[in-house]
Amino acid sequence: MKPVDDAIVGPEDAVVDPSRGLAIIDVDEVLALFIAGFARFLGLHGYDFRLTTYGLLNNIFVAGGEAQPDKDQAKALFDRFFSHGCGDLDPAPGAVDGLVSLAALADVVILTNAPESARALRGGWLKQHGMPYPMIINQGPKGPAVRTLADRVGGPVMFVDDLLSNLDSVAETAPRVTRVHMIADPALRVLAPTSPRHRRIDDWSQLVRVARDEVFV
Ligand SMILES: [Mg+2]
Repeated sequence: MKPVDDAIVGPEDAVVDPSRGLAIIDVDEVLALFIAGFARFLGLHGYDFRLTTYGLLNNIFVAGGEAQPDKDQAKALFDRFFSHGCGDLDPAPGAVDGLVSLAALADVVILTNAPESARALRGGWLKQHGMPYPMIINQGPKGPAVRTLADRVGGPVMFVDDLLSNLDSVAETAPRVTRVHMIADPALRVLAPTSPRHRRIDDWSQLVRVARDEVFV
């Protein structure tokens, strides 16, 4: 396995083998149980997270009551989670072993949408949990970064993410890439929009089977 490079890594300079396949994997709600960790973080800061709508920041309440932080306060809590709290996340069930299995089939690159302030904690979290793969921090739709990565390898490319906006962006920008919609948190699955445009797999062992039998063949 390649060590995580702590220098800033972009899609044009992440180390990939041009002759191999490539698996491009999201962190929050794919490798990590983001909602559960964010809820824990909010609890430490006097807030409750009640998952009633898909819009993340609308689910924050002052602990024990019905009052909600305004948009700026909610955004500040979200940013603070990434700069101070995102090292305390649980891996999604099966994700660590699944990633090891994927890495035997193809190169692995982690592509996460997060503020730059999350880099140290997020990179450390990946290493600590046995996922020492190159990490790219992205903002906005992921299609362009996936396209840049896919253009650098000759083998098949797979992209796994929980957000339809990222999957749609990849469908439009990098159509040769196999897209998988995965949502690790069972409660979030119920609320999340879905689309027939993308293959849906929520289970890591099934993802590995599909990668082995249908993508990296
Ligand atoms: Mg995600």
